[in-house]
Amino acid sequence: MKKRVAVLGSTGSIGTQTLQVIDNHNSLFEVELLTAFNNCTLLIEQALQYRPNVVVIGNSNLYSTVRDALEKTDIKVYAGKDAINQVVEMDTIDTVVIGIAGIDAIEPIIRSLQNNKKIALANKESIVVAGSIIMEEAVKSSGQIIPIDSEHSAIFQCLMGEVGNAISKIVLTASGGPFLNANISDIRSAGTKEALNHPNWNMGDKISIDSATLMNKGLEAIEAHWLFDIPADKIDVLIHPQSIIHSLVYFVDGSVKTQLSYPDMKIPIQFALGYPNRMKSGLPELDLLEKSELKFMPPDVKKFRNLALAFKALKSGGNMPCILNAANDIAVKAFMEEKINLLDIPNIIEKSMDSIPLIKTPSLQDYFQTDIVAREITLEIINNSR
Ligand code: MG
Repeated sequence: MKKRVAVLGSTGSIGTQTLQVIDNHNSLFEVELLTAFNNCTLLIEQALQYRPNVVVIGNSNLYSTVRDALEKTDIKVYAGKDAINQVVEMDTIDTVVIGIAGIDAIEPIIRSLQNNKKIALANKESIVVAGSIIMEEAVKSSGQIIPIDSEHSAIFQCLMGEVGNAISKIVLTASGGPFLNANISDIRSAGTKEALNHPNWNMGDKISIDSATLMNKGLEAIEAHWLFDIPADKIDVLIHPQSIIHSLVYFVDGSVKTQLSYPDMKIPIQFALGYPNRMKSGLPELDLLEKSELKFMPPDVKKFRNLALAFKALKSGGNMPCILNAANDIAVKAFMEEKINLLDIPNIIEKSMDSIPLIKTPSLQDYFQTDIVAREITLEIINNSR
């Protein structure tokens, strides 16, 4: 029987690549649910092609557009964030692909786990912010979280068959982004076009900016802490500009495991969908003779202060990663609107982290409240600095 897949965020970068993977394996998977927030044109197109049981448009103002376009089909159409949270519970869904950005993913992740779904997780903000609560639900659930983030997919693959074996550390690899070799003044004067120009990966805008500032790697360190139950002092970051080695696990016996592939998100997406089985990808085989010069260097945390701030937040714990994430979100938006430069981002985040009280063991409501407060305070900080 085909596995029935829900794709949350089907019109985004992860969503569209997920549908390509499903196209390549249409004897194994079928689409049960598609959701998008604003892009109703593409959502309608996808619905007509994949014929899911249900589609949800997040922005309620677009409901009638989607409903009218799908009127002649038997596809059910709903609208609004609450609808997204509810439909993931449908018992016709086997796997939920979380391709939506931001903390809007927290609720659907928790509901999916409570309904024992397999989750293919591309969203990192939800785990960064509410990892304590999500992982608690994951333990209770007979569902499972399979990471799509390439580094975490690599670590997950390295840990297969290693239950109970002691890990001495994990190392997250980072391409270094478009400013790896740039000097401080070049980074300060960089515009959105330069910052979005990632050398290896094809990703959405927010994550491309986060890669340019190394915040992405900081968020990934926090994500790894929760997903793999690894303390901050056992997580390292290594710059590896070719993006062939997708992270490493060091074991206490001196052995190190890694996963290598060309940087193509369809590989971790396909791994998560197919897990525990591997499927043909049709992608070119990795040629190590062509990629014979794999390079590694330490990250420059003076140039990329965001990385140090993320580790500071991880070590503080509680709601501090939530503050970091919200402040970064607002600062990245301000950069995209050309109100601040890239080097302002860590200064703004640091001020937000210093201004908001730490809650040591937050409830889910505390996390949502912290997110709101942190966004307001960060906006104030930005406006006061101009
Ligand atoms: Mg990643």
